[in-house]
Amino acid sequence: MKKSFIKRTKIVATIGPAVDTKESIKELLKAGANVFRLNTSHGTMEDHREKFNLIREVSQELDVYCAIMVDLQGPKIRVGNLIKEIELKNGEQVVFSHMQNQEDENIIPVDYQGITDDVKKDSKILLDDGKIAATVDKVEGDKVYATITNGGILKSRKGLNIPGSTASLDAVTEKDVEYIKFAIEMKADYIALSFVRQKEDVLLAKKYINNFNSNIPVIAKLEKPQAIENLTEIISAADCIMVARGDLGIELSPVEVPICQKLIISECNKQKKPVIVATQMLESMINEPIPTRAEVSDVANAIIDGADAVMLSGETSVGKFAIKAVQTMSQIAQYTENSVFYEFDKDFQVSEDMALTRQAIVFGADKMLKYVNAKAVLSFSHFGYSTRLMSKLKPSVPIILVSDLEETCRKMSLNWGVYPFHKKWDSVLTGDILLKIDEFLINEAGLNKGDYVVITGSAPNLITGRTNFVRVHKIGT
Ligand code: PEP
Repeated sequence: MKKSFIKRTKIVATIGPAVDTKESIKELLKAGANVFRLNTSHGTMEDHREKFNLIREVSQELDVYCAIMVDLQGPKIRVGNLIKEIELKNGEQVVFSHMQNQEDENIIPVDYQGITDDVKKDSKILLDDGKIAATVDKVEGDKVYATITNGGILKSRKGLNIPGSTASLDAVTEKDVEYIKFAIEMKADYIALSFVRQKEDVLLAKKYINNFNSNIPVIAKLEKPQAIENLTEIISAADCIMVARGDLGIELSPVEVPICQKLIISECNKQKKPVIVATQMLESMINEPIPTRAEVSDVANAIIDGADAVMLSGETSVGKFAIKAVQTMSQIAQYTENSVFYEFDKDFQVSEDMALTRQAIVFGADKMLKYVNAKAVLSFSHFGYSTRLMSKLKPSVPIILVSDLEETCRKMSLNWGVYPFHKKWDSVLTGDILLKIDEFLINEAGLNKGDYVVITGSAPNLITGRTNFVRVHKIGT
């Protein structure tokens, strides 16, 4: 079957009750979803296991690769279970204290013991995604007294943010460790780490993963002001970055989010790390079939900023128009990628952290494309290192990845412009194998006799060795 190379920006779709059937996952994939996010803040492990198996089953049936991301809840503080909803009025003084269930109507329970250590006079406490705000008056014993500055109705289990606090909560909670084990057992492709504050948080998650004999890549979710302060180091420690605009907009201010997004993307592009822009991208599509113009503009601008992937949360997990939201995102990506504004700086700096040969070959291959008007890059790769680097250069043509590892094909579904194929061709690039390659490029990748491709790979073992050659090839010659 021929694959079509339509859009190059990847789409992450969050799984939830709106898309929990085989049919809907099939439709999401057909609409252009490349990565599925299982959000462990919701649902049970059994729910996630079921969804995981369903996704793998459907992608096999459709013969398309997709990645699965297990998103850890992280040190998220929540209000405990309330006796009943509370109406909080401006100017009213409230009391917070550590407990799971509300025992006294005059005290708001919080599921975090360290709250009294993490706030001081004038600290801000934000509830329910920042919809309700309070300012701390004093801390006395196990109680925090605060005055409501922005009132509203408070319900059980709503999120609580203390902007700027260096919360003494562990970066990887007990629940997260259970889900790390789950992700490893299920062979997840990515683990996303919430509320990263410093590079040590990423290293700690990696240590847990390594201790369980795995090396699943870690996506650092940037949603705390401290993460912006430690941006360069965090990006360097992580395998991928997510601009988690929901909590970032609470912890900072929504006004600061667009500039943070640009800063993060620019640093990720400098360090050649993939970056996902997330949250509220097509928010109105949770209830409406057509997005607002501002939302369409937001997606297009994230792509122009240089995002490798864009993410849908509530739009797919609980939205009334989940499939349409992915189709819409796909269309925005295609249109934007074909515009004159979709151009990137090609002044690459050689990095000392990466094999020089790989960098020379990939940078060179990207430059060669234009001289022969090549129709694709054909990248042979075992783990995908060189393909990942090629992806960050955002070449003008599709990157056809041929790997002997299905795991690499799945993982690289997240990487911009990469179309993965699984083949076990680990032989020298001569005679028979070139015929096979031509047959593949014509019959499966949709290219034509006479088209040029730029090939990168390894010699003598085409796929499993280190990338050490680049070759210009005219199909059929
Ligand atoms: C966010 O806050 O933007 C985000 C992606 O994280 P979560 O959906 O897990 O809150």
